Amino acid sequence: MSSKLKKLHWQCISHCGACCRLTPSERSEALEVLNEDQQRAYMDLVGPDGWCRHYDTGSQKCKIYNSRPDFCKVSSLVNLFKISEQDVDKFAISCCRQQIRSTYGSRSPVMRRFNQKTRHGSKIDG
Ligand code: SF4
Ligand code: SF4
Repeated sequence: MSSKLKKLHWQCISHCGACCRLTPSERSEALEVLNEDQQRAYMDLVGPDGWCRHYDTGSQKCKIYNSRPDFCKVSSLVNLFKISEQDVDKFAISCCRQQIRSTYGSRSPVMRRFNQKTRHGSKIDG
């Protein structure tokens, strides 16, 4: 049987920000792989509503993007979770879907946009 399945490529989408909703009770898996200093830095970011203090809900962008902590970068998460190169897209897509599902819902327009983008996207560069 010849496989016609197309490989999915991870890509961040604009106007999402789901991974900036840091609610610690929902992010235990991510918190566990951080060292103590990183955990402290993470907790310092959490605002009263669970969103990161540096997330601009109006523009839906990070206000400190160029100086954001390493653990906000997909490439760092890949290292922290020790993901092999061939599994990077799969891992990143799964993380994003989990975040988008808990923030906006599995049938949300954001999830639809993300799924479309990963089907037609380009290689990881985050
Ligand atoms: S959850 Fe994924 S798609 Fe959404 S902002 Fe974060 S990295 Fe981008
Ligand atoms: S520092 Fe920026 S990228 Fe990191 S969680 Fe906060 S808003 Fe998101």
